[in-house]
Amino acid sequence: MEIERHVKRVKRFTLSIKPDGRILLTVPYYATKKEEEEFLKKSQKWLEEKYSKVVDRTLFYDAIDGSMIYILGNQYLIRIISSDKNKVEIVDSILNIYTKDLDHDYTLGVLNKYLDKLRKDTYTEVMNKYLPLFHESIERLRIRRLKASYGICYPKRREIVLSSTLIHKPIDFIESVVAHEINHLKHPGHQKDFYDSLYQVLPDYKIRAKHLTNDIDWCNIVLYFRVEWKSQLAVKPASRLIRHD
Ligand SMILES: [Zn+2]
Repeated sequence: MEIERHVKRVKRFTLSIKPDGRILLTVPYYATKKEEEEFLKKSQKWLEEKYSKVVDRTLFYDAIDGSMIYILGNQYLIRIISSDKNKVEIVDSILNIYTKDLDHDYTLGVLNKYLDKLRKDTYTEVMNKYLPLFHESIERLRIRRLKASYGICYPKRREIVLSSTLIHKPIDFIESVVAHEINHLKHPGHQKDFYDSLYQVLPDYKIRAKHLTNDIDWCNIVLYFRVEWKSQLAVKPASRLIRHD
């Protein structure tokens, strides 16, 4: 495992595993080599344990430079760029977040705004594709963070709710969820007539919907892990301020 080492004017050693699998070590400016070795030795077990967890689960997003995000089933590397205009742009496999303020919450807001629009556009487009195929119409489409499902249908008030996390999934899957919910407008239950009419429009429904059972937590946010340890030599006389490394 390769560790990126950064010496900083901080009081604590910090070891972080980023969502993309990078390991960052922050070394207090005044810390000794021995302290550093001791910290790393103490953190070894922790590091090995957490590393596999983080690397296995890059299926979420946060406004962290160098982290990964899934959009419509494709993986992108997030880059955060200071700019005089807020903008999000995808170039090949990189998602550039241009932000007026590098503050984490502000930058996350810029990304969320982009994703909100993308959700609305994408879900509306898929709805407009499948409603006529089922000879149906709806009064309202809502997008919400759903905990236990990807979609909900309210046949009586002709309303469909789609999960905000769907945007991270492949379009084939999104279509299967949309078709499923539209089909509920006619067939509220999951009986044979429900599936007969669903398979008529989407014969490969089962293949598309396989994500439904095996990875409901696909998009759960998992932040990176970090461990801290305070340097004993944190407060030092001013003479140690001169350092040439
Ligand atoms: Zn259903």
